[in-house]
Amino acid sequence: MPDHKMMTQDLLEAGGELLLAPEWLMLPTGAATGMGVVVRERRFAQVAPIAELVAAHPHLTVIDLPRRLLMPGLIDTHTHLTQSFGKSLAFGEPSEIFKRIWVPMEGVLDADAAYLASKLAAFESLRGGFTTVVDAGTRSEAGLDGVANAARDVGIRCVLGMICNDAGNTDGEAGALRILAAAEGFLSRLEHDPLVHPSLAISIPEAATDRMLHDVARLTQEAGRCFQTHVNEHLAAIERSLVARGLRPLELLHAVGALNESGLLAHATMLTARELGLLRDSGAAVAYNPVASQWKGNAVLDALLLKTLGVRFGLGTDGTRADGLRLMDAAEATQRIAHGLSNGDSSCGGGGVWVDHATHLGARAAGLGAVTGRIEAGLAADFLLLDLDVPEFVPSWDLTWELVRFANRDQIEAVFVDGKLRLWRGWPVDWDARALMAEVAQVAKRDVARAPIHRVHPTADGHRAANA
Ligand SMILES: [Zn+2]
Repeated sequence: MPDHKMMTQDLLEAGGELLLAPEWLMLPTGAATGMGVVVRERRFAQVAPIAELVAAHPHLTVIDLPRRLLMPGLIDTHTHLTQSFGKSLAFGEPSEIFKRIWVPMEGVLDADAAYLASKLAAFESLRGGFTTVVDAGTRSEAGLDGVANAARDVGIRCVLGMICNDAGNTDGEAGALRILAAAEGFLSRLEHDPLVHPSLAISIPEAATDRMLHDVARLTQEAGRCFQTHVNEHLAAIERSLVARGLRPLELLHAVGALNESGLLAHATMLTARELGLLRDSGAAVAYNPVASQWKGNAVLDALLLKTLGVRFGLGTDGTRADGLRLMDAAEATQRIAHGLSNGDSSCGGGGVWVDHATHLGARAAGLGAVTGRIEAGLAADFLLLDLDVPEFVPSWDLTWELVRFANRDQIEAVFVDGKLRLWRGWPVDWDARALMAEVAQVAKRDVARAPIHRVHPTADGHRAANA
């Protein structure tokens, strides 16, 4: 039985340079034994057999981690950090919740509330094993800096989208130029930020003019950043686009020259054969959001078809629940129910697909393939220590698939981002999470009460009573 107190003490006091010797190390090829890592100055300095590391670094104390898995931190390729005050308000609601709940709720957040909501969401994300989140952009006017500051304070890597919608622009060319100048400024201001990676977003293609779609996608392409938008999320969205623009959302992006390899398209369900071809040829990436499909969607994308076509994709929560291990499980289960049952595919990715797309392939989809997602020398030391000394992992026959189907958030013992220990057993090591929770409870109550939210579904108990 390892001495946990000793272990956390070692991790905290190691002074930034660590030689970690876990029992298992998750590599893109699978879990290896006898391998360790040296972490130095925010990065993995070396990944090698433990004996080799010990010989090469005699000044370092070896931190033995028996029955532990050291694995890459998970990547949430699509979320909305400033929606955390709403959470279960969206349960049971029909599609296009953004109109009735999220836009009204995010609209009342001031800078402080946006910061608090983001900090809570970022904390939840770390607890769920995410070391990187891709935020699609806040609808709070004052919120962008709040999201960035919350990510830094909590210590999570964040690809942050700045929303560039211009459908409401009443100032013609001058207004459009202001939006584009702000977008360029945002990209350059955060160019070298260690944790917050800039990105541009248009909520849905219809929320912008053809020109804005084109120019924003060009800016992100030139800067090597992500252009985020929601595409083909619901049947209603597709039909609205057809009525307004004569094209389906993904076709519209293509038609205006806004579909390129910088694209990170959330949802992308209900793709026609033509759209699949356009997507493949464009090099754009997709965020597959299985829990969003379960809770509030009309359809499920066929992730294994995307894989076969060579379309980059990651897994996303869309702000549903910030649990990366359950997200992998949902990704597999949703694929299997929506596609594998009807075509007799009992392996549905065989476990490994979901781990890969939650880690290194998710990082690629988020434009961070050279930054994070793998346990590899030179990459950011974003990783988890999982306690496998639990009955669910005894005996263990297939660790990769067991991670997808058995692993639970309570096994995440340590979360490291950018080489720093951020959480130990689910709680931060350097700030007061209980104080944050107490503050959020108050502010969320105030803001939800004053937001013009329109729910059409009762609470669970109200629903039960109504149907008794
Ligand atoms: Zn979304």
